Amino acid sequence: MEKKLSLTLVLILVLSLCFSPHTAASASQTALIPLPETGEVISGFKTVEAGDMALINSKSVLFEHEKTGAKLLYIQNKDMDRSFDISFKTPALDNAGAIHVLEHMSISCSNKYPLKDLIFAILNQTYSTYANAYTRQNFTTYPVSSLSEEQLLKLTDVYLDSVYHPSVSNSKNLFSREAWRYEMQDANAPLTLTGTVYNEMKGDLGNISSAASQNVLQALFPGSIQSNIAAGVPDNIKELTYEQVLNFRNTYYHPSNSLMVLYGNVDYRRFLKHINDEFLSKYDKKEIAVETGKITPLKEKAERTVKFPVAASSNTKNSSQIDYAFAFTDISEEDTVGLGILADILNQETSPVMEALKKSDIGGSYSVSFDAAFTQPILTFSAANADESKKAEFKMLIDNSMSNIISTGFDKTAVDAVISNTLLTNSNLAENRNTGVNLSMKIASMWANHGSLDYYNHLIKNIKTIKDKAEDNYFEKLLKKYIENNNHAALAITVPEAGLAEKLANAEKKHLSDLKAAMNKQELDKITADTKAYNEWNNQLPDPKIVESLQAVKIADLPEEVKTYKTNDSFTSDGVRLLSAEANVGETETSSLLFDTSAVPMKKLHYLQLYADLFGKLSTKNYTQKQLNTQKLRYLNNAEFHIANVTQNNARQYTPYFSISWMGIASEYDKQLSLVKEILLNTNFDNSKALLNLVRAQVSNLKSQYTNDPLSILLLRNLAQIDESSTYQNYISGLDYYNFLLKLEKDLVSNPKAAAAELKNINALILNKTNLVTTYVGNKNAIKNYEDSIKIITDALPKKKITSQDYGKLPKPALREGIAVDSTVQYNAISASYKKMGFAFTGKLLPIQTLIDQNYITPKLRFGYGAYVSIVSFNSNGLLTASYRDPNIRETFEVYKGLPAYIKNMDLTQETLDRFILNAFSDYSAPRGELAGAESALLNYLSGKKAEDKLKILHEIKSTTVQDVKDTFAMFQSFIKNGSYSTVGSKQKLLENKDLFDEILSIK
Ligand SMILES: [Zn+2]
Repeated sequence: MEKKLSLTLVLILVLSLCFSPHTAASASQTALIPLPETGEVISGFKTVEAGDMALINSKSVLFEHEKTGAKLLYIQNKDMDRSFDISFKTPALDNAGAIHVLEHMSISCSNKYPLKDLIFAILNQTYSTYANAYTRQNFTTYPVSSLSEEQLLKLTDVYLDSVYHPSVSNSKNLFSREAWRYEMQDANAPLTLTGTVYNEMKGDLGNISSAASQNVLQALFPGSIQSNIAAGVPDNIKELTYEQVLNFRNTYYHPSNSLMVLYGNVDYRRFLKHINDEFLSKYDKKEIAVETGKITPLKEKAERTVKFPVAASSNTKNSSQIDYAFAFTDISEEDTVGLGILADILNQETSPVMEALKKSDIGGSYSVSFDAAFTQPILTFSAANADESKKAEFKMLIDNSMSNIISTGFDKTAVDAVISNTLLTNSNLAENRNTGVNLSMKIASMWANHGSLDYYNHLIKNIKTIKDKAEDNYFEKLLKKYIENNNHAALAITVPEAGLAEKLANAEKKHLSDLKAAMNKQELDKITADTKAYNEWNNQLPDPKIVESLQAVKIADLPEEVKTYKTNDSFTSDGVRLLSAEANVGETETSSLLFDTSAVPMKKLHYLQLYADLFGKLSTKNYTQKQLNTQKLRYLNNAEFHIANVTQNNARQYTPYFSISWMGIASEYDKQLSLVKEILLNTNFDNSKALLNLVRAQVSNLKSQYTNDPLSILLLRNLAQIDESSTYQNYISGLDYYNFLLKLEKDLVSNPKAAAAELKNINALILNKTNLVTTYVGNKNAIKNYEDSIKIITDALPKKKITSQDYGKLPKPALREGIAVDSTVQYNAISASYKKMGFAFTGKLLPIQTLIDQNYITPKLRFGYGAYVSIVSFNSNGLLTASYRDPNIRETFEVYKGLPAYIKNMDLTQETLDRFILNAFSDYSAPRGELAGAESALLNYLSGKKAEDKLKILHEIKSTTVQDVKDTFAMFQSFIKNGSYSTVGSKQKLLENKDLFDEILSIK
């Protein structure tokens, strides 16, 4: 239910260059500075409390600034990816999105750094690993990180200047750009309305799951600000005024209403001094009342139905969402943790409530979720792609199921498995990238919504306490208290209405044309003059001196170093490959098995994908579906079963594998392997009812994915042209697979045996140790154990000849393709392989990718045309440009077509280019966790990439010259000429631009 509103989207998905280069984190730098005693005052900050954060093996100190009351939490550990975050409590007083517009405006420009797009300059032209800002329920947060302490100190200065010292001169134009503005190029042109936040929210609220979340809030918190959309609703955003935003800033952006989080290995004293001297010392303490919208719990359960607009051509049968949600008032910290785990227990595919739901035919797929990011947290049961007439049945089924669980109790092994999983996942948070940033934002949410600053200090302790209480029916008691006896609940039904999308779009068009018709000449002239003035302002180039002043690191200082891991590569006597990497970790390990699937005939590939999707979800000889699910959760944490291609020679050659991968505890490795063996050897494919349910859920999941995340299908289809491996991936898991499942859903009713036979055939092809690759990452002893234990699997498998099939004739999407989905915004992409462009990949392209995005595409698309995000990505296979939540199609492709001319005419100095080099270098060097780093190094090794290749890329990034940029002219020309063009968007918009496409298809 959380609104994720990132100012920019980082798409690692398309960046497949995932080595694990490390920057200079030499031993001498890792010494930590001693922490102060409680009571000690440093630069006006009083030490309030010292603590431990077992979660990430760190210490923490809470400071309070004596003069203003500002809070600063310092989390100390050896992480070199240091971060700073400042948050303010910001209530959503209405749906006009003032908070969100203010967030965008603040981070665009400050008094000391008067650029128009400050955040993009930081993101693209400094030695930073993360820079963003978010508007969330009840707070606004500004996180930034860097591998350099000097750079982080500089960025802390920039961020604080942005929030405390707004730009005066640029403000009105920034408001027009970020909130909304009328546009009219000349007197004959139509009047249009655009703006970054306006378009962003059109896209964000344009899918049924967002609309359903909004519906739940309005049902649970009627009349309260908790039901408002903090980020704004387009119709209300266009009523917002600059003065409202200014008032909002004056009220809430004050140190007394702030929390800062500093993270990593830094000299925190320098930061405290800088923050005090330059900013906080100029303020005095102020009482700021922040409304939270807390309401008296409802006495009776509520019900609310809303319509969701979709296109006339949409199939609305079984497409509603039904949510049954419960709100909780004043709950303890321990119960907050407990309710989160409870939702996970209920969300298990084989939990009693899920089993009952699957038998019901109410919806296509179901989920249970818990969200503590509200003053009154919420637990929600959801049915997606549901039949709205079964709402009462849905509610009754859940009520009955809860009563049953309370009287009979949960299966305690299942509960134990979920808790173990929660502990393992939470103990490995530092494995993810941007640990500091992610943790800071979570802390800010708990602070803003619950006034708590030590929730994450206590998290591991709380999970362990709950684990001890579980035997004593802790979760059953929780259910009784918070669900069964809780009338603060609501049933919210969100129903798609076919044709309503066009009706609203036409009404908006009519509104604008009526508005224009009613204007006199003077008013019309003013709008064309304003449009002209805005565009002139938007086209002004930034002062390079200001961009220069953001830097704290020089290119010469960048260390060309790659962290290496000790790798072992050997074969067993029967030819199974054992590949391991040694990581400096305790008991945690990651492991995978890669089965060569090249023998699967082309016509049976979708059954292979289905096999992967069903893996571990059906009963086996020794386990029921439910028992197996518990075992999987207990031993195969975060397990993934999928078809993965390992590519050689830039993806023109690839081997398709069925990959089984998981994380676990090293001492349990034998148990993990035995469980995988049981699934591989003993799965029962003959339960046609279970099969049908799983296929149905998969159809529903894919359908939701296409409407909630259109970018995923756009990239899959567009990139299908780029190389053979991507063609295969698109065919096996994209729309062709979805259509296969739709047909299978029908066939399973008439002829259930046929599908089971196909799956058994696939299983027989998989069960083969020929070409089997096994991988393992763990400590030295664990690796030894792995090499001994792997025979649990290998001894059980036959060794059969593999006859590789030819996948050269797999169908590809049209070169110029439009795909219609229910959407009010568009997603456009062009891509081409280096082969097609007559070019080869080099690290020099990485700074160029950011340069053209920041200096050419983003100003045109985002600030000119109001498209929310632009993506430019050179990966090792080719080039991709894409737009995200874009009001247009034709205009966007025209901007891309201007790339060669832009390169040809660009006036670029090495000084400017150097800033993009810094950023590309930082991006490429950003560290990963110890396990994740070793794992990625192993996968690169498997693809034949060596440490020298990574060093070469780092070196190439550093040595990029202006001439190198100029030399890409021919490549961009070829990109435009030979690329594949795709759009996912509204049918109406696609039809208006149908001359651009060879084919337009609709997802059913
Ligand atoms: Zn935004």
